[in-house]
Parts: sequence; structure tokens; C-alpha cells
Amino acid sequence: MKIVLFWHRRDLRQHDNAGLTAALQTGYPVVPLFIYDQEILDQLPSRRDARVTFIYNEVERLARQTEQAGGTLLAVYGRPVEVFEQLLQAYDVAAVYTNEDYEPYATGRDAAVAAVARAHGATFRSYKDQVIFAKDELLGKSGKPAKVFGAYSKAWLAALHDEHLLPYPSRDLFRAENLRQLAEAPARPTLEQMGFERYEQYVPAAELPAEELVLNYHNTRDKPGLANSSTRRSVQLRFGTLSVRELMRQARALNPKLLNELIWRDYFMMLLWHFPFTATQSYDPRLRQVPYRNNEAEFRAWCEGRTGYPLVDAGMRELNQTGYLPNRVRIAAAGFLVKHLLIDWRWGEQYFADKLLDYDLAQNVGNWQWMAGTGVVAAPWFRVYSPQSQQERYDADFSYAWQWLPEFGTCEYPKPIVDHKFARERAITTFRAAYRASE
Ligand SMILES: Cc1cc2nc3c(=O)[nH]c(=O)nc-3n(C[C@H](O)[C@H](O)[C@H](O)COP(=O)(O)OP(=O)(O)OC[C@H]3O[C@@H](n4cnc5c(N)ncnc54)[C@H](O)[C@@H]3O)c2cc1C
Repeated sequence: MKIVLFWHRRDLRQHDNAGLTAALQTGYPVVPLFIYDQEILDQLPSRRDARVTFIYNEVERLARQTEQAGGTLLAVYGRPVEVFEQLLQAYDVAAVYTNEDYEPYATGRDAAVAAVARAHGATFRSYKDQVIFAKDELLGKSGKPAKVFGAYSKAWLAALHDEHLLPYPSRDLFRAENLRQLAEAPARPTLEQMGFERYEQYVPAAELPAEELVLNYHNTRDKPGLANSSTRRSVQLRFGTLSVRELMRQARALNPKLLNELIWRDYFMMLLWHFPFTATQSYDPRLRQVPYRNNEAEFRAWCEGRTGYPLVDAGMRELNQTGYLPNRVRIAAAGFLVKHLLIDWRWGEQYFADKLLDYDLAQNVGNWQWMAGTGVVAAPWFRVYSPQSQQERYDADFSYAWQWLPEFGTCEYPKPIVDHKFARERAITTFRAAYRASE
């Protein structure tokens, strides 16, 4: 009897899952699938990666839940096209269902898998799940993506109806009669077999944040020294252990500022889909030839939190130790790297990509290009935040600095790597020259 394969990727949950709901409604028994994608895993800088452990734990949890419901989840290590070649030969597959992924690598991979599926007589369907509006759904009047966030968010809010945030009934449909138990399923790979060490980092539970936190969010989000200053649900959203619709419903009911941040998330996903080249290149052609200094020793000082600017240093130490840093500190650290040290935003983007548990190409590139002034949507290139003023504004009592810098306040703590006034002028002169040269 034919089956439908449901391919989990950035949606490691059975509840409120658009593609899984559609698969369970086909009338064919469903076999959930996860592929440990060798193409992605081979590129990770370390075999001790908390994201891989997180994914592994979540896939094992899904596998147990699938067994309890009367089905079998397949977990395979390999290259997706090759894995599908094998599965489509081994099983009689009517269709492959999945949820959309908007990253350039993913769109290419999905097109290749769809072609393999078709060659085996199976259909390939993917569904919008991880955002509310995607691709061409919310374009500006010109028929192109809005280049100003305010215009996008206004259109987003005007287009939103209650139905957009309704949960999909996948959990209710996830029952033995809609699933297939495979008698001889291959064993799921262990972390060790895939060449990884178990390495756990703190990630909050896949539940909605406390109501009180959400109600206070606009007051606390820019205070990195406070515990629970923001929702810390970015990892859950990245891997889809929490549905974005759930969090949006809560934000919509309790705090428009939080909803606004989630709209940024939709916006950057849409922009990356339209402009995939921005993953590796500045969007603004006038700023593709900035003569960055790219000083290696200064880059290492930034990575290790030794710039002598406490907000930046505390952030980088937190990132290195935990895989997280608060939004306000991401802004401070990114701005400092690009403007004060004149280091190519792509170096910083790559460092964040290696370290952040919530690393997401669209969000990381979108925000880095915003900070560098090079993006579709960007801060003015001549804006150079003063680290001193940022310190006074966001960590006036240095509580965040004390938390992450054990040597802070002693002679061990480094002197500022560069003077702000000097660095500001140097950045403006350099960016202005790049602009003029392109004219
Ligand atoms: C240089 C830089 C790099 C970043 N890289 C990433 C990244 O790789 N992955 C990532 O998820 N976020 C990234 N962000 C956005 C933001 O900093 C994080 O989403 C946020 O700090 C995560 O913490 P939180 O869940 O407590 O956020 P909250 O403040 O509680 O916000 C709730 C959710 O809204 C979304 N959100 C919040 N701020 C932004 C924003 N500026 N842009 C887009 N979405 C936002 C996130 O999904 C977040 O989980 C980056 C920001 C900067 C300035």
C-alpha cells in the first residue's frame, strides 16, 4: 500500500503543523521523515555543536511520539537527493509533503528532491508554515518587496485575519489510522555515528513565555542585564519546536511591540527569498567595494570579547559561553565590528552563524546588513553608535558587564582597542569614499 512521506525540517513538532496536517488528510498512511543533511553537517566548524544535539534530541522525541501514536518516524543521515532515491525505491510512495524553507540552499535542494520524486511517480508538495506571509504575498505598490519596514509592517497588519493565526489540527490527526508502522525500519543514527559529540546548552522549554514577561516586554527587552528581559524563543522558532502562530497569537493579544519583532522575522525571510544573493553580498551595489581594514588581530579581540568596550565584550563572552546574546547587544557588537573596526560584515555574520543557537540565515544576514548599512533595509551608512552612550543607555549600572566579564574593573581588563571619535570619523570617511567611488 502506498504511503506519504512527511519530511520534517524547520518544523520539529507534531502540533499546529501546516504540511503535516495536509499529509495526514491525504487518505494515505503517513511516515514522518527527518534527514540529517550531510551537506549542512559537514560544513559545521565543530563536532561539538549544541544545535546538532538539540536537533537530535528533538528528532528522538518526535520518533518516540510517533511510535506511541502507532507509526514510525524514519531518521536518516545523508544527502537529501540520495536519501530520497533510496526511500522512493524501498517504499511505494504516493507523495512527499513538507513545509517551505526560503533559504537559497533549501530552495535548490527542494527543487532537486521534487524532481527525484516526480521521476518515481510521486508528487512533491510544500506548505507555508514558518511565517504568516511569504514570498510574493505582501508586495509593495510597485509589485516589489517594500524596502521600508514601516510600509511592510503596515501592510502585514492590514492583511492579517484571525484565520492566519489559527492552529492546524495536525496533533488531532496524528493517530494510528493515519500513520504507517514500518516493520523493518532502518535504525536511527546516533550522534556518535554521525561524528558528533553530545553537547547541551540551555534552551527554554518549547512553551509560550510567561504572560507577565510578554506584558512587560517593551520595558525590558533592551535591558540585557535583567533576567528574562525577552522571550528567548528564537531557538524554538528556528527549529519549529514552537509554532510561530502560537507566539503571534499571544503577542497580538498582549503586546504589539513583540508582534512587531515577529513581523521583522517574516520580513527578513521574505527579503532573503527575493534577494538570495544577499546571503553573501551587500544588497546596495554602492557598498560592495568598501575598503574594509579586516585586521585579523582586532577581529580575534572582538570574537573573544577583548575590545575594552564592556557592552560589546560582555556580549561576545555570553555568545561564546551560551550560544545566545540579547538583541540590543547583537546590535552593539555588530555595529562596533563594522564601523569601529572596519571589518567586513560577512566576517561577523559568519562568526555569529558558527556560534548562535538560533542562527538563521535570513535573520542574521538581514540584521547584519541592516547594521552595516548595506542591506535592502538598512540603517544610514553614516550612523556610528557611540559605545559609551550605548553602555549608559542599556547597561548603566554595568550589571550585564559584571555578569560576563570576571576581570572587569581590574587592571586585567583591556583598554579600548580604538578611540570612538577617531573610529567614527574613519568609518564615515571610508564609507563616503566607497559611495563616491561607485558614482
Ligand atoms: C546582528 C544581528 C544578528 C541576528 N541574528 C539572528 C539570528 O541568527 N537568528 C535569529 O533568530 N535572530 C537574529 N537576530 C534577531 C534578534 O536579535 C533575535 O531574534 C533575538 O535576540 C532572540 O531573542 P528572543 O527570542 O528573546 O527575542 P525577542 O525579543 O523575545 O523577540 C521574539 C522573536 O521575535 C523575532 N525577532 C526579534 N528581534 C528580531 C530582529 N531584530 N530581527 C528579526 N526577528 C526578530 C525573533 O524570532 C525572536 O525570537 C539578530 C539580530 C542582530 C542585530
